[in-house]
Amino acid sequence: MSQPASWSVLNPDSLYSRVRRDRTAAEYDYWRTLRPVADINSEEDWTTLCTLLYRDTGLSKGILTRNFGALDTLDRLPRLKALIAETYLLDLYHLSIISKAIGKAPTELQEEDFLWRSLDEDLMALFTPSRPQQLLPGTRTINNTIADTIASVKNLAAPQVPDPWGKPTPEPEDGPTPCEDPAATMRSLPPADDAGRVSSLFVEPLPDDRLNFSLAVDQATGVLLTDVLSQAARTRKTNQANAMVDQLLDPVSLTVNSLLYRASDVDDAPVFHPTTGILTEEAAQTLQDMVTQTLDMDAARDAETPQHDMTHPIRCCVIGRDWTCRWPGCNAPATHLDGDHRINHEDGGPTRADNMVMLCRHHHNRKTDVQATYLLDPVTGDVYWHFSDGTYAVDLAAGPLAPRKKNWVQTYSQRAARAREYAARKAAAEEFERYQADQEPRPAPQPYEPVLVRHRAPPEEDPPPF
Ligand SMILES: [Zn+2]
Repeated sequence: MSQPASWSVLNPDSLYSRVRRDRTAAEYDYWRTLRPVADINSEEDWTTLCTLLYRDTGLSKGILTRNFGALDTLDRLPRLKALIAETYLLDLYHLSIISKAIGKAPTELQEEDFLWRSLDEDLMALFTPSRPQQLLPGTRTINNTIADTIASVKNLAAPQVPDPWGKPTPEPEDGPTPCEDPAATMRSLPPADDAGRVSSLFVEPLPDDRLNFSLAVDQATGVLLTDVLSQAARTRKTNQANAMVDQLLDPVSLTVNSLLYRASDVDDAPVFHPTTGILTEEAAQTLQDMVTQTLDMDAARDAETPQHDMTHPIRCCVIGRDWTCRWPGCNAPATHLDGDHRINHEDGGPTRADNMVMLCRHHHNRKTDVQATYLLDPVTGDVYWHFSDGTYAVDLAAGPLAPRKKNWVQTYSQRAARAREYAARKAAAEEFERYQADQEPRPAPQPYEPVLVRHRAPPEEDPPPF
């Protein structure tokens, strides 16, 4: 196909796309006009400003905070900002998703220019089309991209890993105290004997007489639990919350596969999990030590079975390429979806990765009803959707086996090494500053500040009667 790469939402031949562009441009103008000139944290009182804006626009404080925050985020991403100013590819809704995802990075990491340069680079790669009529990435892909970028520079924040148990609370000295807040009491308890696995469970009564269970575990344990829960939900045909209850009260035997994807030809390649994303080094190591089976994706890519259902390796290959349901705009994770034969099995379509696409049950039915058809590029994993009105759009594969992500893995290991160097240099510079500060004479420390409280003597009480 010789057409230039483009976004389907910027199609000049579509009335909807043209109207969308005008609306998005006007939306940015509107929000730039509303945006406070002064720094909202210092000069202007934020509450007063919100009240004035509410009076004149009817916009709630929540929406004002979200969209101003999104514009602040965009100011730190100069290349993405220039792209949006030129094309209006992303509206403020998309921008707020990006802003929220970046907000999940550790606070100290958000102060690092290195993070913002890396985010700008990866977001530009995500929002630069490589096919004509390319579909805008879904929210899951946007969130995953940002989470992956944060993971690639996490070394910058490594020295400040917080203690999951916080500061130890001193034991009460004078016997037991009334237990008014059971959850707070549980939080203050020291860790159980198996300190290797840092877990905590809070049980709090809710106002409607139900009980709220809140469980925090390390990432490796969490990955295993999420996989057990989704398998239990699938086996018991219910949602994950009900499946968890049923599994605790009436356990059934489950076969659970936790899939870990790692490039074998890249040093220090990250480990991807289908729902958790890039794992921390510790979690990746813990889980890799438990691995019972290793699958070769080079072999699985060309493997074929005469059966209708995919073999386990073929299925892992298609999940690793697709990562989500491939229907335009669907964000369902691929792990428990149906594999769809592009050319139906009964019409001679092989059960092979290059004829299989992951679709959720809902969209699988749509496809079976022939509301839309698709072509699958066997090399890139791109899916070309054809609609009944004669138009088409391209969905790019987003999993770690997709060619684009494979290239990024190379970037990941190089960037992680640079981030490690940068963190080491910064730590050395801070060490030197502390050393210099130690050399300068300091005023004598004053350990306490006496405060004189002047008051008048209380009036004398009447003498007690005899
Ligand atoms: Zn779907």
